[in-house]
Amino acid sequence: MAELHFLYGTMNCGKSTLALQIHHNAVAAGKHCLLFTRHDRGGGTIASRIGLAQPAIVVTDALDLREHVGAVVAAGAAVDVLICDEAQFYSPRQIDQLGCVADDLDIEVHAFGLLTDFTTSLFPGSKRLLELADRRQELQVEARCWCGERGVLNARTVDGAIQREGAQVLVGDVGPGEVAYEVLCRAHHREGTTRHVADRRPDRSRAPR
Ligand SMILES: [Zn+2]
Repeated sequence: MAELHFLYGTMNCGKSTLALQIHHNAVAAGKHCLLFTRHDRGGGTIASRIGLAQPAIVVTDALDLREHVGAVVAAGAAVDVLICDEAQFYSPRQIDQLGCVADDLDIEVHAFGLLTDFTTSLFPGSKRLLELADRRQELQVEARCWCGERGVLNARTVDGAIQREGAQVLVGDVGPGEVAYEVLCRAHHREGTTRHVADRRPDRSRAPR
């Protein structure tokens, strides 16, 4: 039976790079892949920060993944592997559909995503993946907090200040202030000590803890 495989990690831990590597290896082995993404840098592409990119189908709210893949197969195309990037943004229902793709169509599914949002809560799509996946795997490329500790949580900042409330997903220009994301260790996430805040401290509290 094909498996639903969930690979997760913080921002900047190489998820998209690994997604593209798995795609490359599958194609080299003569397999046929479908790539999906949502809210990625540059729309319908899976792009890694080290310069690789592949076009991908954009997962909209209305997309039924089981139906879509079923239709591709029914039209005569071979599909062996699904590569699903930014899966934290898929709805729980769409994650259920990925389970059906694995079970009903015997197509391997590799889903990549963040576990938690800027408030440290699970994304609904990631929660559903943890519940349903045959295999769950934390990526071993670690992003680091500014202090040098392992970065385990994603922070949203506005002009360098940590945010504790707001929409889970920001759409478009929300201003005022510059919204950014940063990976922090748990202690600095709790304290709200972002790199911006640490850089402005006069004392030695920047020293690695
Ligand atoms: Zn830290």
